[in-house]
Formats: sequence, C-alpha cells, structure tokens
Amino acid sequence: MSQIYDRVALIGLGLIASSMFWAMKRAGLAGEVTGYARSAATRETARRIGLCDRVCDTVEEAVEGADLAVLCVPVGAMGAVAEQMAPVLKPGATVSDVGSVKRHVIEAVSPHIPEGVHFIPAHPLAGTEHSGPESGFAELFDNRWSLLVPVEGSDPDAIAKLRALWEGMGSNVDEMDADHHDLVLAVTSHAPHLIAYTMVGVADDLRRVTDTEVIKYSAAGFRDFTRIAASDPTMWRDVFLTNKDATLEILGRFTEELFALQRAIRTGDGEQLFDYFTRTRAIRRGIIDAGQDTDAPDFGRGKTPT
Ligand code: NAP
Repeated sequence: MSQIYDRVALIGLGLIASSMFWAMKRAGLAGEVTGYARSAATRETARRIGLCDRVCDTVEEAVEGADLAVLCVPVGAMGAVAEQMAPVLKPGATVSDVGSVKRHVIEAVSPHIPEGVHFIPAHPLAGTEHSGPESGFAELFDNRWSLLVPVEGSDPDAIAKLRALWEGMGSNVDEMDADHHDLVLAVTSHAPHLIAYTMVGVADDLRRVTDTEVIKYSAAGFRDFTRIAASDPTMWRDVFLTNKDATLEILGRFTEELFALQRAIRTGDGEQLFDYFTRTRAIRRGIIDAGQDTDAPDFGRGKTPT
C-alpha cells in the first residue's frame, strides 16, 4: 500500500485515533502523523508509547499544514474543536471525523469549514469498550465497515482519497446519507447500548444479588451486557443526546416488542416465543455469514463493532 496523504492530523488521541495511527503505519498510508489531545496526561502517554510522529500541545500546531485532519473526539465536542482548527486549515485540505452520529456532527462542524477545504464525515463501525491512547491497535478496522457520509457538493477526488485511506486501514467502505446512517446506527448500536446499560443498572439495583450471584454466575448472557455497559460514559452520553430522534424511534419499537413478548410469557404463548426466537437466530446466522462476527464461543468478548 502506498502513501495517500503527506500529513495527517489526529485530534483527540483515544481508541479510534490510536487505532488509526497504528493502522496507517502498518500500511504506510501517511507521511507524517501529528496528534493532539486535550489533557497533558494523554499527550504525555502518547509521547511515551510512540503514538503519532509528533504530539502537539495545541490543536492549531497539529493541524497546520495537514492534508487531512480527523476529529476523533466525543460527538458533543466536535463543533468547538472544528472552530478552533478552522483558521489554520490549509486550502485544499480535507477535514473528516469518526463520530458515531452524523447529522449532528455535520450541523456542528460545517459552519466552521473554510472555503476551499473539503469536509467528509466518516464513521468506522469498529470499536471496543476500552478507551484512551493505549487502547488502540492496528487491526481494529480489519474487515469492518467504515461509512463515508459526504455532504452536498463534496469533492469526488477528496472522497476517493479518504476511501482509499480507510480501505488501506483494513476497512470495507460504503457511502451513506447522514439521516439514514443515524437510523441504522440507532438499531445496530445505540439502542442496544442503552438496553445493556439498563440491564446492568437493573442488576446493580438488586445490589443484594449483584454482590453474589450476578457476578459469580454472569456467564449466562449478563456478562456480554456488562462488557457493552463498560463503554465510555462521555462518548455514549453524547451519542444519545445527539441521535435523539432515531434512538427514541427505535426504543419505542423495542418497548412494543418487549410488551408483546411479556404478554406471550404471561399467557403461556410458547408458539409466539418459539417463532420469535427462531427469527432472531436467523439474524445472528446472517451476521456470521457476512463475516462480521465469528461463531466462536467467546462471542462478544473480543473486538466488536459499535
Ligand atoms: P476515547 O478513547 O474516549 O478518546 C477521546 C479523545 O477525545 C481523548 O483524547 C480526549 O482527550 C478527547 N476529548 C474528550 N473530550 C474532549 C473535549 N471536550 N475537547 C477536546 N478533546 C476531547 O474516544 P474514542 O472511543 O476514540 O471515540 C472518539 C470518537 O469516535 C467519538 O466521537 C465516538 O463517537 C467515535 N467512535 C467510537 C467508537 C468506539 O467504540 N469507541 C467506535 C466508532 C466511533 P483526553 O484524553 O485528553 O481527555
């Protein structure tokens, strides 16, 4: 794989940015990669572990001269960071992001993009429950989907370059409209996270049980919920605050189905339960057949899309 960008700036140095750095290095996709993180502690860690060719103390320093600047901060912080970097963006440069919600990011970032700079939002559907500069690894995006969400008038050459970067980092790449993205992700990621948070919260409420049996016997489903519910609180707070409509739409449907199943249990309608579980099992099979998970018994405990 050959170099795609001379200079890439990663703003925010957590799980996704650090994985991007190692994946870019693995394939030689960028000449120099600069990085910036808000806290001195994160910048210090990045320097110690060799994350980024150059770690900068300001956003402006990291972005100056970059051909590609990628916002890798929580969704709620994207607008403020974009505003800060705007004055130093090089004409012809591309700004992208990796946020889990797209419509909000477009609305928050677009106003700050100067004339002559391309803005191409993106979202890698890959992650783990870990966060911070030491949590990344080069293989995170391998065989996972990354979605590009071009805004109106996005330059085709700039899109092609960004696509090549994500492909070079191991991803399969698709393009999607922002609203559709937010609805799809509400189904596949956001609502499931909320349900996991809720289930773990319920168990915690039954503290008497949590202290003993819930932890000891957690293998039976609950353990997978706890893994998801260990995800970064800032990131997920922002996801729900910014993908409100789609998440509420899916949760409404979820509640209806839950009531239907609850009723089937109450009335002893085994046929309905059996048919429902047969249908959901086929969905799991489809995910495995599409290569998006393995049939291994440790399902859910390795790297998983979020
Ligand atoms: P992370 O590991 O928690 O790292 C977040 C980074 O953003 C840190 O460097 C943090 O700086 C910085 N940051 C936090 N708040 C900030 C603020 N208000 N202003 C400036 N910088 C701030 O996060 P991540 O998991 O890499 O997620 C980054 C983005 O990727 C998010 O938008 C998320 O929605 C998206 N995403 C995440 C996943 C996932 O599974 N984790 C998957 C796909 C996409 P400090 O360390 O100095 O605090």
